[in-house]
Formats: sequence, C-alpha cells, structure tokens
Amino acid sequence: MGKLVFFTIIGLLIYWFVKSRQTNETQEDMPPEAIEDMVCCSYCGVHLPKSESVSAEEKFFCSDEHCHQFLDTTE
Ligand SMILES: [Zn+2]
Repeated sequence: MGKLVFFTIIGLLIYWFVKSRQTNETQEDMPPEAIEDMVCCSYCGVHLPKSESVSAEEKFFCSDEHCHQFLDTTE
C-alpha cells in the first residue's frame, strides 16, 4: 500500500512539472513588445511603439523633427 501512495505522489509531481512547463512556454510566446500599441508617423509613415512616439494634434510622429516639419507644412 505504501508503494502505491509513493508512485501516486511521483505521478502527480511529474504531471505538475509538465503542466507548469507548458504554461511558461505559452507566456514566452507573447513578448511584451507585441502587446504595446504601435503608431504610424504622420510625416514619414514609419511604425514605432506608442511610448517612443511624439504626439501632437492627435497625430503621432517618430521624432520631434518630423512633428515640427509636419506642422509647418500644414499651416
Ligand atoms: Zn517620421
């Protein structure tokens, strides 16, 4: 009877180990970069993460330079 309990515990430990490994792998398939919003520069059209963009007049730009150039051409 003691052997049966022993093997049941070993089986549960292997099951738990495999299950936790599978969970970790699915989390690695989604890098943080993929979750962040991507925006398009209104001047040159390059795509970049929203946190790295410059925003003005509800538009996004890849740099301050393109922001100023875009605003200059529209005025
Ligand atoms: Zn740009």
